[in-house]
Formats: sequence, structure tokens, C-alpha cells
Amino acid sequence: MEYHHTVERSTELLRKALPLMSRQAAALHPVSYAIWYAYVADLNSPLHQALDAHLAAHGVLDEAATEALYRRHLADPDAGTALQVADGMHRLLDGMQASAAAAGDQTARYGHTLQRLSAALSPDEAQPAPPLALDELREHTQQMQAAMALLQRQLEESQREINSLRDEVRHARHESLVDALTGLGNRRAFDRRLGTSLAADAAVLGLPPVGAPVSLLMIDIDHFKRVNDNYGHAFGDQVLRAVAQVLKALSPEGSLAARVGGEEFALLLPGTPMNDARALAEKLRATVAASRIRRKGTDTAAERITVSLGVAQYLRRSAPDNPDADEAPAEFVDRADRALYAAKQAGRDRVMVAAA
Ligand code: GH3
Ligand code: MG
Ligand code: MG
Repeated sequence: MEYHHTVERSTELLRKALPLMSRQAAALHPVSYAIWYAYVADLNSPLHQALDAHLAAHGVLDEAATEALYRRHLADPDAGTALQVADGMHRLLDGMQASAAAAGDQTARYGHTLQRLSAALSPDEAQPAPPLALDELREHTQQMQAAMALLQRQLEESQREINSLRDEVRHARHESLVDALTGLGNRRAFDRRLGTSLAADAAVLGLPPVGAPVSLLMIDIDHFKRVNDNYGHAFGDQVLRAVAQVLKALSPEGSLAARVGGEEFALLLPGTPMNDARALAEKLRATVAASRIRRKGTDTAAERITVSLGVAQYLRRSAPDNPDADEAPAEFVDRADRALYAAKQAGRDRVMVAAA
């Protein structure tokens, strides 16, 4: 869950959430607050509905219900779907087990009938076979056909359900990694890719092999608060999308462009050494600075936007006998962040390189 509310808006939400939260049986801890905050801000409609349903049925929210709602709807964007999918799979497997058991019973009965038929067809003088009951055979064959047809229908139904569950998982996974405003990766996508790009087995994942350089650009829009204050939040959003567009257009293959904060972006560049990363950063800066963003529905002059950038290359220090000495991923990001901060301090609209 990402929160993009201003101090004013979040204060208003706090005022609304507090009385609702204090009416419940659960204690006033951050988990409770996360739920009521999302509720009053209307951030999560499945949570809203589940909470309303719970209150209608039970009157108040106790600790267990609070925890359950949090885990299902807020804790992890994947978890809610994972739980739903797990429930769906259970139902599906139960159904398939029941159909298979029913078909199994029918098959056993039919097998028995066939045995008797076989005995009747190979008469044994010592043991006269029972008379061949054609009616009985016909009846059992029909039952067998019906059972098989039913099983087939049930399996087709199960197949449809499996496909729809698979689509849900795919959709949720995509949603949980994409920033809705810009279509770039989100913080979560960035953290994941950072982990895999720096992992010792990166090559297995089709990424540049161990020891290949990995660079990182941190990008922050200059004076963005002013843009919002002067022209409104909607234009601010338009600027965010425009900067994301430039980032997307200039991102080399195999890189990951993500929106990692309100007006902060990151470009992770596996396989790119510092010199190329710095050149790319400069190109990004110049492209943004040269573009003009016209406010929708106005004829006034378009706005000039600039960005500041910090560049770092991942520090590999590991010796064969000391595999743990590589830079920690968080430290790598911090160095790029500090370079970005230095670019701001030095006057913005510029690129600064992180010290090794
Ligand atoms: P600096 O040049 O030092 O980066 O200054 P700044 O104004 O860009 O930085 P600051 O961190 O003070 O302000 C960031 C602003 O970004 C404040 C916040 O309201 C705004 N913001 C964050 N997320 C969003 C969003 O999703 N949409 C819009 N329109 N604004 C956002
Ligand atoms: Mg900024
Ligand atoms: Mg910022």
C-alpha cells in the first residue's frame, strides 16, 4: 500500500478514522489504524466491503478480525489474492476428488458386471455360470456412460475454474508490481529486481553474469511541490506521467524503470558500467529539461520541468575466500540517493556521481 496524501488530507483522515477505531474491541495499534485509515480514505474497496459486512454481522472488530482483515487486504498485495486462490484451489480439489470417487464406484460396479459376463461367456462345466442378464448389463453400461459424462463435465468445469484462478494470479502479480499512475514498476518491483540483479546466481535468471557491473540512477523532480502548489495536483500528476514517459523511452533493454516514491524514480541498469550510466543520466536530464509540458485545456505557455540525478555503480569487493563482502543493496541505493541529494544541493537540474 502506498500513501500519497498531503499532511492536510491525512490529518482529515486521522480525524475521521480515530472515532471509528476507538469504537472497536481491538486495541489502538498501527494495524488497527492502517485498516481504518484505508477505510475512511476509501483506498481499498474489498476491505471496505469486508469491514462493513463484519460490522453488520458482529457489531465491532476484535483483535482477530482486525488481524485477519489486515492480512487479507493490506499486508501484502499478493497475499490477498494468494488466500483467495488457495481457497479456490481447495474447493476445486474437493470437487474433483468427489467426482473421481463417484466415477470410481461406478467403474468398480461395472467391472464386477463384466466379470460376470465373462464367466457366462466361457462356460465351465464344473461350475455352471449364472444366466447372462442382458438387461442388467445394459443398465450398468448406461450408468457407466452417465457417470463418465458427468465426470467429463465436472473436469471441464474445473479446467475453466483453474484458468480463471490463473488469470487472477497473473493479474494480481502484475498489479502488485506496477505503479498505477505512470505504468512504470513500483517500489516493490524495484526492490525485487535489485535483489535478483545483485544475486550471485543472476546469470541463471538470464541477467548479466556474476561480476558484471550494475549501475543505478536515482531521479527526483525539482521543486515539484511548487508545481503542485502553482498548478494543482492534476497537473502534478501529468508531469509525473511525462517524466515517466521520458524514462521509459530512454531505458535500455534489460533495465528497470520504477517510481519509487511520490516524485522520485529509479533506473536500475544491470550490465551497465558507470561511464555509460552517467552518460544516460545526462541524456535523461537534458531531455526532460528540453521538453515543455503544456497544461491540458489551457493555452498558456508550457511549463519547464527539470530533474536531478544521482548515479552509483555497485561495489563488488568480494574475494574468493570472502564472498560476503560485496556492498549491501541498501548501501548501494543510499549512495545513489546521497549523490542525488548532492545534485540538489549543487543547484538542481544536474547529475552527480556517487563516491565509491
Ligand atoms: P526538491 O527539488 O528538493 O526535490 O523539492 P520538491 O518540492 O520536489 O520536494 P518535496 O519532497 O518537498 O516535495 C515533493 C512533493 O511531491 C510533495 C508532494 O505533495 C508531491 N507528491 C508526492 N506524490 C505525488 C503524486 O502522486 N502526485 C502529485 N501531484 N504530487 C505528489
Ligand atoms: Mg523533488
Ligand atoms: Mg523527493
